Amino acid sequence: MREYKLVVLGSGGVGKSALTVRFVQSIFVEKYDPTIEDSYRKQVEIDSQECMLEILDTAGTEQFTAMRDLYMKNGQGFLLVFSITSTVTFDDLSQLKEQILRVKDYEAVPMVLVGNKTDLENERMVSKEDAFDRAQKWGNIPFYETSARCKINVDEVFYDLVRQINRQTATKEKQRKRFRCNIL
Ligand code: GDP
Ligand code: MG
Repeated sequence: MREYKLVVLGSGGVGKSALTVRFVQSIFVEKYDPTIEDSYRKQVEIDSQECMLEILDTAGTEQFTAMRDLYMKNGQGFLLVFSITSTVTFDDLSQLKEQILRVKDYEAVPMVLVGNKTDLENERMVSKEDAFDRAQKWGNIPFYETSARCKINVDEVFYDLVRQINRQTATKEKQRKRFRCNIL
């Protein structure tokens, strides 16, 4: 079975753990220890293919940037999560995204921009337009608004990443075959 290493990134309190636990265990956790960094495994069928997802729910507690570099190096797909109720969390993502690109040598990296807590519409600070614009600027990556609480678009963001990774693998495979033919 194919394995996929996904990493959930973003500032503290945006709902990284809530989204991960909602996806993996189908429940909403109101209070999750903000310092816990853990990885989860979940088997799902996507496009009639069984996949084993390994999801790292980060907590930003790593003592050395080298540790973050390491999980960015190992990760194949990244959820960049902010809260629609906090502009700071939206702006914080730029630095994380830069770090991913640097670690991955500026190759195309499967990513999804996620505006969580969309159920808190009356506390909204980040407009859909601004988030969409940024997603476009960042290489036209997909943007979703989610709610871990109300179970909106939770499966979709993880599935989107898996599909991006599949597409990338297919393209690389094609290039490899073409290259092999050329040198024969
Ligand atoms: P993390 O630090 O990014 O892992 O954030 P948590 O998952 O611990 O969530 C931080 C707080 O936001 C908790 O009080 C959650 O109950 C709350 N929260 C998470 N997701 C949502 C959501 O979709 N809607 C609402 N209203 N609250 C949420
Ligand atoms: Mg957490």
